Amino acid sequence: MKYVSTRGGAQPQEFCDILLGGLAPDGGLYLPESYPPVGERLAAWRQLSYAELAFEILSLYVTDIPAADLKAICDKTYTAQTYRWSRDPAKARDIVPLTTLETDFHLLELSNGPTLAFKDMAMQLLGNLFEYVLDQRGEAINILGATSGDTGSAAEYAMRGKHGVRVFMLSPDGRMSAFQRAQMYSLKDANIFNIAVRGMFDDAQDIVKAVSNDAEFKAKYKIGAVNSINWARVAAQIVYYFKGYFEATRSNDEEVAFCVPSGNFGNICAGHIARMMGLPIARLVLATNENDVLDEFFRTGVYRPRATAETHVTSSPSMDISKASNFERFMFDLVGRDAAIVRQLWREVDAGGSFGLADGPFAARLPAYGFVSGSSSHADRLATIRDVWQRYGLMIDTHTADGVKVAREHCVAGVPMIVLETAQALKFAETIREALGRDPVRPAELDGLENLPQRVELVDASADQIKRIVVREC
Ligand SMILES: *Cc1c(COP(=O)(O)O)cnc(C)c1O
Repeated sequence: MKYVSTRGGAQPQEFCDILLGGLAPDGGLYLPESYPPVGERLAAWRQLSYAELAFEILSLYVTDIPAADLKAICDKTYTAQTYRWSRDPAKARDIVPLTTLETDFHLLELSNGPTLAFKDMAMQLLGNLFEYVLDQRGEAINILGATSGDTGSAAEYAMRGKHGVRVFMLSPDGRMSAFQRAQMYSLKDANIFNIAVRGMFDDAQDIVKAVSNDAEFKAKYKIGAVNSINWARVAAQIVYYFKGYFEATRSNDEEVAFCVPSGNFGNICAGHIARMMGLPIARLVLATNENDVLDEFFRTGVYRPRATAETHVTSSPSMDISKASNFERFMFDLVGRDAAIVRQLWREVDAGGSFGLADGPFAARLPAYGFVSGSSSHADRLATIRDVWQRYGLMIDTHTADGVKVAREHCVAGVPMIVLETAQALKFAETIREALGRDPVRPAELDGLENLPQRVELVDASADQIKRIVVREC
């Protein structure tokens, strides 16, 4: 399988060649040349374990790693031990257990990994793939990232102790929750460097961009990224749509709907690809919070990214985005994979503008892709967390609550609705207390996490400071 850029200006590449990089050289995102149809395979896949299913699906997209090696990587990644934080520990073997709230309304638990958010599902695979490819090539990489919480911790837990990988993770000083800080800063691994920046998340993000734009420094110090535009992360996420489908249905003649709490459009993009491969998905329900750029697109056909200053700070913070980086992948498919059109649309977007489908041919095609959408507010979030707690005795996190709220608006009789549970309530304790007047339950193993010694270096928001740290550690 070869990979092409959504902007058409890059040579087709193999999987391992795009694994360690970020954007394509022309500024576009990589996608496979085609989506392999599942066809008859669906019947055989129903019986597979999660790791076996991951191997089957990834084999279609990763054709430059020997099958036995890819199989070993999948087996090592998707273990009951790694994904052990299920509500019902007996179900940990499922990796992504399905919890039924009522007939045809389910939660798919994706947040049972080490950092209690769904990003572990893909990031853990990425850690093992990075180590494998770097070992093969005798190379090393310095991952530089900025985080406001979930991404940084998922990356650190995936990369800790991996040969050939160092992680330099910038976080805004004093802006993350005590639990998120403790998760990251208590890691003792020698290849993990936590750097708190005096400033906001955007300051940290700007530093990462500035360092990455210094081509000489980037090449000399092998600076890499693990952000959500990485194709391997999207590929890993395709797997749980299949698994969720098999769990919620009895035969492959049935259709389902998925509801996905969305930010950067990474997760739901994997759902779109599963559907393109032929998984019987009737609807992809996209849920946003107050930052409703994507809801606006699916309701009106207008994509209008906001300025960072316009981004609302909400109680489902991992969905606080003003521009959905993976959305370009979907648009590439919608415009019939015509890279010239994508280039033209993103010339507007990259200049701070917007575009609309108006009544043109693409607006006419949009319904065939199965998307519907909705948004949720802080008040909706509180009401949903309370309702799910009272009705079913289950505690859900703020992002999942946005999903449940929007899913309820799009249920169709006889079509199972599967809401993706993207984080555990424990990570967002403040809002849980506001909604329920009680603390989220906490697994005994995580007791006292906040009291462990922490390792973090505090610096001014300057790219030179960060470069000095990278140079010092190399
Ligand atoms: C990252 C994240 C999201 C958004 O996922 P995208 O792939 O960016 O759309 C939703 N919920 C949680 C808890 C997250 O960490």
